[in-house]
Amino acid sequence: MKELLILSGKGGTGKTTLTASIAYLAKEKLLADCDVDAADLHIILQPEQTERHDFVSGVKARVTSDKCTGCGTCFELCRYDAIILDEKAWVDDFSCEGCGVCAHFCPENTLELEPNHCGYWYVSRTRLGTLVHAELKPGEENSGKLVSLVKQKARKRAEREGVGLILVDGPPGIGCPVISSFSGADLVLIITEPTKSGLHDLKRVVELSKHFKVPAKVVVNKWDLNREIYYQIEHFCQGSDMELVGKIPFDEAVVDSLVAGKTIFEFKDCKAAQSVANIWQQIEKNL
Ligand code: SF4
Ligand code: SF4
Repeated sequence: MKELLILSGKGGTGKTTLTASIAYLAKEKLLADCDVDAADLHIILQPEQTERHDFVSGVKARVTSDKCTGCGTCFELCRYDAIILDEKAWVDDFSCEGCGVCAHFCPENTLELEPNHCGYWYVSRTRLGTLVHAELKPGEENSGKLVSLVKQKARKRAEREGVGLILVDGPPGIGCPVISSFSGADLVLIITEPTKSGLHDLKRVVELSKHFKVPAKVVVNKWDLNREIYYQIEHFCQGSDMELVGKIPFDEAVVDSLVAGKTIFEFKDCKAAQSVANIWQQIEKNL
């Protein structure tokens, strides 16, 4: 089984559009949306949810009985200012780090550590194949763990379905979730755009892929909006031994297809679609 990870240094560079378009072209595949903080593959794929599972990670303190005397011990000991003390104590979930100090020292044994329900992961049916995806509750910070979980579940599901390719819509940036998304990837396709920040972000993702020894290829989206920076990207790729497998021209049909909830191939024959088809031919050979 092969895994193609699609990354961009930041959001809004066309990563999800490219993932969905490749999903249209690839024959047997399963999709994993690892952009768990701002998942948007569902906008194009309009999934029909078939499974929903809890995502639990770490613990949080809870005042579990009314025996609290308001003595203030927990308030004084909590280093994260997570205890609110009125006549009785209660715990601010957003600040609690689950260290357990309050529970250990509460004289009334009224504080306990409980599993932290951070979000959900899902399996859904889509017209382009099974999608494994997830969402974190607002304020939760376990996106790296959730990315690992989505990838693990996607692999199991792909095995069960006998599918030979997993397409992973990766998280933006270069933080913990992106690092988690590298695990098990056979090839990284980095999509960037011809802006100064696009080039800067590309360099960071290329560094990561080299660090994790995962082969990477580069695609430039809307390359013709700034030819000067496009040539800088080309130059960078040559100097870094990174293959530039394609450039997608600016094409209004891409935005129109998104609004219609379709991939560009399902929307209309256009120059962007032709470029993506060429890119997929290059990528398929490397998988
Ligand atoms: S240490 Fe226990 S009894 Fe004292 S304020 Fe905190 S929860 Fe209440
Ligand atoms: S578990 Fe730790 S962080 Fe959470 S409220 Fe208790 S002392 Fe504060």
